[in-house]
Amino acid sequence: MEKKVVDDARRAFASGRSRSLLYRRQQLRALLRLIKERQSDIASALKRDINRSELDTQMFELIGIENDIRLAEGKLSDWTAPQPVEKTLLTMMDDVYVKAEPLGVVLIIGVWNYPWSLTLQPLVGAIAAGNAAVMKPSEVSINSSALLKELLPQYLDTEMYPVVTGGVPETQELLKQRFDHIFFTGNSVVGKVVMEAATRHLTPVTLELGGKSPCYVDGDCDLAVACRRITWGKFSNCGQTCIAPDYILCHPNTQHRVIEEFRQTLLEFYGEDPKNSPDFGRIINQHHFDRVLALMEGCTVAAGGQSDRSQCYIAPTILKDVLPHARVMQEEIFGPVLPIVTVSDVGEAIRFINERPKPLALYIFSSNKKVVKKMLNETTSGGVLVNDVIVHYTVSALPFGGVGNSGMGRYHGKHTFDQLSHHRACLVKSLALEGLNRARYPPLTRAGLRKALFFLRHRLWSPHQAVRAWAILSSLLALGLLIALLVVLLSESY
Ligand code: NAD
Repeated sequence: MEKKVVDDARRAFASGRSRSLLYRRQQLRALLRLIKERQSDIASALKRDINRSELDTQMFELIGIENDIRLAEGKLSDWTAPQPVEKTLLTMMDDVYVKAEPLGVVLIIGVWNYPWSLTLQPLVGAIAAGNAAVMKPSEVSINSSALLKELLPQYLDTEMYPVVTGGVPETQELLKQRFDHIFFTGNSVVGKVVMEAATRHLTPVTLELGGKSPCYVDGDCDLAVACRRITWGKFSNCGQTCIAPDYILCHPNTQHRVIEEFRQTLLEFYGEDPKNSPDFGRIINQHHFDRVLALMEGCTVAAGGQSDRSQCYIAPTILKDVLPHARVMQEEIFGPVLPIVTVSDVGEAIRFINERPKPLALYIFSSNKKVVKKMLNETTSGGVLVNDVIVHYTVSALPFGGVGNSGMGRYHGKHTFDQLSHHRACLVKSLALEGLNRARYPPLTRAGLRKALFFLRHRLWSPHQAVRAWAILSSLLALGLLIALLVVLLSESY
């Protein structure tokens, strides 16, 4: 079955219809209609999957897709236009440019925590780039997955963008097929399985993985503001966000102040009993509920800690004085539990971060420019935010993706288009001026070689440099004319 779906998608791609910009725009507009017209169906599927409120669905799931669609539709002509590049003396008479071309058939494997945005945002880039795409939503978010399978064919070209539902066996069957790119979001263990399968066909991969994203809180900053922003980023979607702050690093003297601020903010956000708050979600299933609860064993609870397995409910929980070797510090938490690990200073925080796998996101809260600069210069991560969390995800101009263990490749906005395009090097010459080429043909002579190297070595101005030079030249010319005019006027008045 999976083979037939991929073969059909390849046939649809081979028909050439996805190369037309008109077609791509039509498909993008149809996708926009889907998320607008079926917003309440999507919200109710998410309510059933993960107890997500309808308002959160708009903010966390749909607005990113909408923004990416509008951007791609508006910029498609620019993105697909040939991009002229710097020429050499040898190529000064030629057309030298880079042209973004479709790759072919892309496999998009999605995950359950944001089942719409994490499958449809890559799809936007796949459509914009002119590819066919096979969608494989996560079986864990079962209602969203079934709804996607039902809705997508009602709006998009069914052959070009088929949906395959199912679990591990179906995904593994898909991975046996040949794709031109695999875009995977999920954990790093499965990321390795995907990459191994991709090597069989030399298929390039984008791996959007997870890991532990640290959050350093400097004692000198406005802790009330810092803790409010952290609380929002950590406990939205019940902590099941790949870039949620995973743990706090702060000085022991800061820890008790931070805990007090967290308590206040949790009360303000979710009330006395977060279980009754419409803004607080649930753990996706009992398997993950048991996993998150087990991570807390042996730790000191500073706030929260209550749970109810029948509802997959774990209260927003703060753990204090957590030791680096505690179980909760050994794997990504992916739940509403926030451990605090104390460090003596920023230097120790940096060492702590650098001794561990490269994170997907790093958060720094400080009003001290030197501390911020030191952190930025001496650490690495997929993305970094100073004095806020998560919101870099919403900036489509910023590439979103991991580094090292947190993934490879990047997307959002034009980055998705670039990721799912082949950037073809194009050099278009005429058959004239053959005399210039003689120096490179055998039999080679020293004089010929000198001439050939001269032509190969020298670059001409890039289009940008030429534009800048032209702007400077015209300003100087205008200034010269102005001065001449003034001189004439002044001499006439005397
Ligand atoms: P999951 O169980 O939904 O799995 C993701 C996909 O992998 C699914 O489509 C599933 O069918 C497939 N899959 C699972 N096991 C497989 C196997 N053995 N072989 C082939 N395919 C398989 O999701 P999960 O793994 O629980 O996801 C959570 C992880 O995803 C966390 O680590 C989180 O940080 C990460 N994540 C990353 C991002 C990002 O943008 N970087 C976003 C969301 C989640």
